[in-house]
Amino acid sequence: MQLKTILNRVQKFKSFVYAEARWAGSIEAPELEVEVVERSNGRPRCSGCGLAGPGYDRLPARRFEFVPLWGIRVFLVYSPRRVDCPGCGVRVERMPWAAGKHRLTEAYAWFLAGWAKRLSWQEVAEVFRSSWDSVFRSVERAVEWGRAHQDLSGIQAIGIDELAWKRGHRYLTLVYQIDRHEKRLLWVGDKRKVKTLLQFFRWFGKARSQRLKYICSDMWRPYLKVIAKKAGEAVHVLDRFHIMVHFGKALDEVRAGEARELKAKGYEPLLTRTRWLLLKRPENLTEQQGSKLAELLQYNLRSVRAYLLKEQFQFFWSYTSPHWADRFLDGWCRQAMRSNIEPMKKIARMLRGHRGLLLNWFRAKGLLSSGVVEGFNAKAKLTSRKSFGFRTFYCAEVALYHVLGGLPEPKFTHRFC
Ligand SMILES: [Zn+2]
Repeated sequence: MQLKTILNRVQKFKSFVYAEARWAGSIEAPELEVEVVERSNGRPRCSGCGLAGPGYDRLPARRFEFVPLWGIRVFLVYSPRRVDCPGCGVRVERMPWAAGKHRLTEAYAWFLAGWAKRLSWQEVAEVFRSSWDSVFRSVERAVEWGRAHQDLSGIQAIGIDELAWKRGHRYLTLVYQIDRHEKRLLWVGDKRKVKTLLQFFRWFGKARSQRLKYICSDMWRPYLKVIAKKAGEAVHVLDRFHIMVHFGKALDEVRAGEARELKAKGYEPLLTRTRWLLLKRPENLTEQQGSKLAELLQYNLRSVRAYLLKEQFQFFWSYTSPHWADRFLDGWCRQAMRSNIEPMKKIARMLRGHRGLLLNWFRAKGLLSSGVVEGFNAKAKLTSRKSFGFRTFYCAEVALYHVLGGLPEPKFTHRFC
């Protein structure tokens, strides 16, 4: 079987045919070059407007990288014609295998982009003997295409989250669709300010914003303000994940402070290596961790009391009626205020201050999948780590849309990966 036969099976172009295939490159790094020629009856199409026009001249041969075969890099070689277009002037012809001035064929760019969902960009570049830049450009094209072709109708619930990057010195605002039927990243914004979220609503559009039924977010003040203004019809829910993150931070603070105190007073280092014991849900602990926790709980420590307050608060989420949840909240806050543990008192004040939004959780219950934002948060962190913590905002944007955007892809006759 000839290479031509295979190529015609996987990637056929209407007005062009494959000609001869030959070796290129070196013994150590062999390459295959497949010549492409136009059909004799076909007129070149202008790359500006797409219309066929009279030929003007022919440019020297160019190489377009195609999907590698058996570890051998493959290039399509073609000498593009120039069109004397009545509308656009003299232009290079349109070539169906490559977009714009790209040296990568569409097929290869989608191939690299597909792998970049599974591996880091650096790894994709290494495995396919490509470059970081080519992988990045491919992902960028996939994202551009996907964003231009995505369907934004029927979005009823969104979740707003933030992601720390640049070692925690900067934040990204991420907006997800969290409907039962579809979950995906909708939008990425630089920083987490009023302006950032306003940018989202501008992009999302007035009509769509008014059709939103639920919005999940943290208590971050700029968010509260913008949401009330831009999507007043929607039920604003403070979600469980973010509330519990506040508890985790408070607990951390109590534990670290108490550990320092104990050390200064010359007591046994009871609290060393207990951070995860106290932060994790008890059901997620190993047997050994479980017994260590049980032992720790016997001491009358501030950290232990804070831990018990946090675990007790988990009951809040299991209520179905907002009324009873409210009663529970009241009781819990009173208890926390009496605890004399400042970080816990701070949480109680915060919860009281946002009672209405907090109880919305029960009004939206069953309609939102609550774990979604948390799941996306973990995936976004992983993506950030894989991309070396993102070099620039643009990089972050492209990487996140690519992995989390659930973006559509064109229909291919053959899937290379
Ligand atoms: Zn034209």
